[in-house]
Amino acid sequence: MSKVVKATPTFAETMVSWQKTHGRNHLPWQNTQDPYRVWLSEIMLQQTQVTTVLGYYAKFLAHFPTVAELAAAPQDQVMGLWSGLGYYSRARNLHQCAQDVMTRFGGVFPQTAQELMTLPGIGRSTAAAVASFCFSERVAIMDGNVKRVLTRFWAYEADLSVSQNEKTLWEKAEAALPSRQLKTAMPRYSQALMDLGATLCLPRKPNCPSCPVRGECKAYALGSPEKFPVKTRKLKRSSEVLWLLLALNKKGEVWLEKRPATGIWASLYSLPVFESEEALKKALSFKELKKTRKLSEEPEWTLLPTFKHVLTHKDLHCHVMKVMLNQAPQTPAQGAWWAQNDWKVLGLPTPIRHLLSNSL
Ligand code: SF4
Repeated sequence: MSKVVKATPTFAETMVSWQKTHGRNHLPWQNTQDPYRVWLSEIMLQQTQVTTVLGYYAKFLAHFPTVAELAAAPQDQVMGLWSGLGYYSRARNLHQCAQDVMTRFGGVFPQTAQELMTLPGIGRSTAAAVASFCFSERVAIMDGNVKRVLTRFWAYEADLSVSQNEKTLWEKAEAALPSRQLKTAMPRYSQALMDLGATLCLPRKPNCPSCPVRGECKAYALGSPEKFPVKTRKLKRSSEVLWLLLALNKKGEVWLEKRPATGIWASLYSLPVFESEEALKKALSFKELKKTRKLSEEPEWTLLPTFKHVLTHKDLHCHVMKVMLNQAPQTPAQGAWWAQNDWKVLGLPTPIRHLLSNSL
């Protein structure tokens, strides 16, 4: 009597069946194949926790239920709604991308990763996520969570700060993709990789005993999952000193300016920013200030406590000068007085929002 030998499930097959029963299946951007919703969630989830994204995702969809409505919105409204989520280039690209979908693709998201990648703010992994979730395209995603899972599974020791090594990992990831029943398997497989990285294969203390692929995982066998991924080149950090002018008028309004389209806090509203105390003071004529305060002496500046704001590559050391004015400060950028009810809905950098909330 011949014995029937059952084929061992592949890595992809194991991941797909694990996701069905143990993965995350109730997030609001799941169970949809609407590329607008999937794309919106993918952009928001870059460098941001799921719990933070939930509220922003709901708010964006309430204001902009379709890509057409997002494209037609004023940039200030988009930046205002994004305020607090950080990494503001994502919001600028999001808006531009919606406009490009309208003008270049007639309001319909393209269906292949290759075409999606031609849109602003959509990199290779985001394009693959949208294409695999919505159109079941056989393409590999590669965000931070996925890199961790795959490098551990294969005990992939090559340094990922070398681009050729990262390219090789992509190739291995492509070879490991599901090969059957792609319509259902591809979305689930992409989700499984994300879920495993977010729930079990954690950066510190991964929960290997609960992992569906621990039997084949090389890093687990070696007893050193936390050694992977290997990335030696660290981001070079720099620091910068900023002087911020917190100018108020008698009505309690604050002077805000729109930042240039590039550089720190690009396209957001901010207090006027200067590189030194001298530059800040020069931007205000003492004569004007004397008139305002009806004093013959120098005006009273209040120096608020200095604070540090940490960006990805840079620490910002911010000094804040507070002064009362009756007229507009003489700064080169276009600005205006904003009442509390109005500035609260603007796109403001998080530290400026905190500063205003705590000092007005
Ligand atoms: S066994 Fe551990 S290290 Fe390997 S993939 Fe699973 S959780 Fe990650």
